[in-house]
Amino acid sequence: MLIDTHCHLADPAFGPDRPEVLERAWATGIARVVVIGESRSSAEAALAMAAAEPRLVATAGVHPHDAREWNSESEAWLRELLHDPRVVAVGETGLDFHYEHSPRSDQHRAFEAQLALAAAAGKPAVIHAREADDEVAAVLAHHPEVTAILHSFSSGMGLLRAGLVLRHYVSFSGMVTFKNWRLDDAVLETPLDRLLLETDSPYLAPVPHRGKRNEPAFVRDVAKRVAAVRGISLDELITATGDNAARVFQLQSGVGSREW
Ligand SMILES: [Zn+2]
Repeated sequence: MLIDTHCHLADPAFGPDRPEVLERAWATGIARVVVIGESRSSAEAALAMAAAEPRLVATAGVHPHDAREWNSESEAWLRELLHDPRVVAVGETGLDFHYEHSPRSDQHRAFEAQLALAAAAGKPAVIHAREADDEVAAVLAHHPEVTAILHSFSSGMGLLRAGLVLRHYVSFSGMVTFKNWRLDDAVLETPLDRLLLETDSPYLAPVPHRGKRNEPAFVRDVAKRVAAVRGISLDELITATGDNAARVFQLQSGVGSREW
C-alpha cells in the first residue's frame, strides 16, 4: 500500500479543489492519507475529513511554532480528540530552533505535554525537529513509551541513530529528490521496517513538481527516489512502507475502510 503519512490537507492551499486532489491520489494508487492537524482548527478539520472519507485518518496536536499558546485548554481539547479512533497520532509536535516562532521553553513544555498525552492514549507522536537534534533526542529518551515518527527527516545522523535505537520510525519527504539533498546515508541506515513516506503537502513538492503546490499523489515520486537509493524495487518499498504505516498508526484492514 502506497501511503502518504503526512500532509496538511486542511491547509487553505487545498481550499478550492480538495476533492480533485484526493481523486488524483486514489487514481495514483494511494491507499491511505494521514491528514495532519497541527492546531485545534486543523485537527478538527482533519477529523471531519476522516469521518467523511474512510481512506483518510487524522492526527491532532500543536506545532512547535505555536507552542507559546499551549495551555490547559489545549490539553483538554487534544485529550478529547485522541479518544476518536480516526485520530491515529499526536502531532505534529517537537522543537524548531531554526525559526523559533515560540520561545524554546514553551516548545519544550508543549512537546513534553503532548508526549504524555500520546502515552496516555497509546498512540504514536509525529515529530518535527529543526536545528534541535540533541534536545529532541533527549526528550524522546525521556519518553521511551511513546513511538515517534521523525517526520520529513532532514536532521543529523546523531538524531537518526538515537531514534532508531529507541525503535522509532523515520519518514522521508520530497526533500530526497532535491539537488541539495545530502542525506542518502539516512535513507540507507534506516531499517526497511522503520521507513515511512510522506509528502508534507502543500510544502516540499518533489522533483519534477518542485516549486508547485505539493499534493499526496506526488508521494510516488518520493517512493521512486527512496527505492533507487536503497537499490530495491518500487513494489518492495511500497509494500514495506505501507506495512510500517499500518503498524505504527494502527490502521486496521476492513475497519472503517473500503478496500483494506
Ligand atoms: Zn508537516
